[in-house]
Amino acid sequence: MHDLVIRDIGHLVLEPGSELSNAWLAVTSGRVAAVGEAGTEPAAEQVVSVGGRTVTPGLVNTHHHMYQNLTRSYGPVVNGSLFDWLTGLYPIWAGLDEEAVYVSTYVGIAELLLGGCTTSTDHLYVHPRPNLVDAQIRAARDIGFRFYPTRGSMSLSVKDGGLPPDSVTQDTDTIMADSQRLIDAYHDPAPGAMTRIALAPCSPFSVDDTLMRQTAELSERTGVRMHTHLAEDVDEHTFCLERYGRTPVEHFEDVGWAGDRSWVAHCIYPSADEIQRLANAGVGVAHCPSSNMLIGSGTAGVAAMRRAGVPVGLGCDGSASTDHASLWLEARTALLLGRFAGGPTAMTARDALEIATVGSARCLGWEDELGKLVPGSVADLVAWHMDPVSLAGAHSDPVEALLRCGPARAWTTVVNGRILVDSGQLVLPGLADALTDHRRIATRLQHALVH
Ligand code: ZN
Repeated sequence: MHDLVIRDIGHLVLEPGSELSNAWLAVTSGRVAAVGEAGTEPAAEQVVSVGGRTVTPGLVNTHHHMYQNLTRSYGPVVNGSLFDWLTGLYPIWAGLDEEAVYVSTYVGIAELLLGGCTTSTDHLYVHPRPNLVDAQIRAARDIGFRFYPTRGSMSLSVKDGGLPPDSVTQDTDTIMADSQRLIDAYHDPAPGAMTRIALAPCSPFSVDDTLMRQTAELSERTGVRMHTHLAEDVDEHTFCLERYGRTPVEHFEDVGWAGDRSWVAHCIYPSADEIQRLANAGVGVAHCPSSNMLIGSGTAGVAAMRRAGVPVGLGCDGSASTDHASLWLEARTALLLGRFAGGPTAMTARDALEIATVGSARCLGWEDELGKLVPGSVADLVAWHMDPVSLAGAHSDPVEALLRCGPARAWTTVVNGRILVDSGQLVLPGLADALTDHRRIATRLQHALVH
């Protein structure tokens, strides 16, 4: 007897190169137990029909800043450069506390679930008060979401030549002690983990060399992964040349980060030679297409990176720069941007889906059980809903239809064998209160800056 059987699957994507039509999928103890063709469904405690919809592995988000949904589409900065945008928002983010982080994470995860995401990282790099990552983990656990928070950090403030003000930076000893504390308290390296921790100094213009090097040493000792922004913006490139006498990628290599425990966000500006070096080192890249276009930073050379062997995953980036957190929309945007940049053969819907699932899982070093739906994988999946009008006529290729038609959103989202979106609705008892609190907190933070 299985725990759950998902039946009436019109098309099932198990992993790249493996798809089934008219299928079912059985879940036991949070893992995919079996898949098969319609008519051979096994018995289960719970049987759910998805009404002929397409089912894929849950999408995996490799870059986000959930707290930023408190300053989503914040009017005074929306038309600035990356550096303008950051310097306008840092003083607001200095007001973050545990409640603000809990609520923004709760709402952020709810949004991700509706967009078909079942595992997400998060990069909280502003720590004006202690224990903020703890608050995020409480929110994820209250929901039952597979969560990979990174302990973000900034140590290089304006007075030392960096970009952020003192109010949002910390000293290296404080950051390292808290990083070790979080690893000890929460990092679960076991298969099927619901919480893992990574370390994430923010960017070359907000972090000093010492913090980068000590983080690499802690990663080496503990085996946890490392994440940072890299080669995101032309101002960052100029900053690195002026301060370090090196490009961002050269600096990244110099401080000991070029290894297979690292994945980086954006990576728009590496040279061809730098791309090959990143590939050889095993560094993953979180591709964030909407954020790059909205900030106007340029676009990442995804096809070249994939050809070179770089693991490329998908990220929605912070809700203040992307302003939405639908990974379906990010996957579709990656498809559009890939074809816009490289022509019609540069990116297919299956390529984009692969980036959003197994590519992301590779960035997290978790490809053995995440981002696919073969027996033994974790039972994280999504059945996609499109309005029948937008899907009318799309009969020949359900995977191309998934990203070309739409918009699509989750009809059923399952994380670790539990249904968190059911018939298109979030199954989150705390959501209404969280949205009320979110509105109050966002108003307070933005109002505090104005006055
Ligand atoms: Zn980011």
